Amino acid sequence: MDYRSGRHFLQIPGPTNVPERVLRAIDSQVIDHRGPAFARLGLEVLEGLRPLFKTTSPVIIYPASGTGAWEAALVNTLSPGDKVLMFETGHFAALWQGLAEKLGLSAEMVPGDWRHGVDPAAVEEQLRKDKGHQIRAVCAVHNETSTGVTSRIGEVRAAIDRAGHPALLLVDTISSLGSIDYRHDDWRVDVTIAGSQKGMMLPPGLSFNALSPRALLASKTARLVRSYWDWEPMLAANKTGFFPFTPATNLLYGLREALILLREEGLERVFQRHARHGEATRRAVRAWGLELNCADEREYSNALTAVLLPAGHDEARLRATILERFDMSLGQGLGKVRGKLFRIGHLGDFNDLTLCGTLCGVEMGLGLAGVPHQPGGVAAAMEYLSATPG
Ligand SMILES: *Cc1c(COP(=O)(O)O)cnc(C)c1O
Repeated sequence: MDYRSGRHFLQIPGPTNVPERVLRAIDSQVIDHRGPAFARLGLEVLEGLRPLFKTTSPVIIYPASGTGAWEAALVNTLSPGDKVLMFETGHFAALWQGLAEKLGLSAEMVPGDWRHGVDPAAVEEQLRKDKGHQIRAVCAVHNETSTGVTSRIGEVRAAIDRAGHPALLLVDTISSLGSIDYRHDDWRVDVTIAGSQKGMMLPPGLSFNALSPRALLASKTARLVRSYWDWEPMLAANKTGFFPFTPATNLLYGLREALILLREEGLERVFQRHARHGEATRRAVRAWGLELNCADEREYSNALTAVLLPAGHDEARLRATILERFDMSLGQGLGKVRGKLFRIGHLGDFNDLTLCGTLCGVEMGLGLAGVPHQPGGVAAAMEYLSATPG
């Protein structure tokens, strides 16, 4: 491929654009992972992660994609044949269920339409029915990246409490942590699963489990086979800043810098920035006369927007046109919604003009690909951004 001048627009909902300061931090010499300099780095990032999850409990770092942290959450807390309750919010919920089944768990999926989040009333109903407390864990995807829907985890917690059920709560925040408000301790989540390459503004390659005292207790008796993912040797080594195997040293340099950036901007301001960009994007979509995939305004994702195309128009063609003409990548329709919707990522390291450029590319692409729409989406977003200071 010939050189394409200017910066590629990576507007998929993860991996996201990596800030220059994070790239510079990663571009450093590898150090001895058993030496004192590494111990300082390890302790700093392990401690620095806690406020991001809003927890005072330990956070574990794996050199792995988010899928590894999904597996880690299950194998450390559950035993063969255990029943877990899952909710079909979209493609990622379906993948997590498939993984649970392969591990020998009995994963019951509450059906969903891929346009709504986890229904707290359904959580309560399922748990109340489970008089014998067979369900060992409730598994929820906080931000369903395939559909642009954010589940109300605080309300899911309240539903579990109302049912008076002892199930653990496991939550996937791979595409929400660092972009959308999330509270591990307040919501008494037992394991929070996260990944580096979305809201955390890092390249792919790290993933996380934030624990609770109950999760740690469950890990003492959980019998699923585990070795690499085992929390116990990890927590023991982490006490002094080390890892039981070779850590991804350079990604940890990046993590240290990303945590500094998030602290400098302030987490609440980061969330507000994403909320503002989410709203501007939704205004653009409505002005185009297109339909948002998310069907409940309480569940709009501020990390990405999934846009339905009119019947007979294929999102793959639209995205190919935009990539070819404007050098921008957008998210494809995954699983059941393949061909039907495309996704605009507005998470991570992002500002007003990045959003305007992104929406310009979409609006021009809609025209070039012959997708019926009205002009004025970019104008609607610009008007909102101008009138609403960040
Ligand atoms: C990206 C993503 C995953 C998968 O993570 P990988 O890093 O690709 O393994 C899982 N869940 C959600 C919600 C995601 O957005």
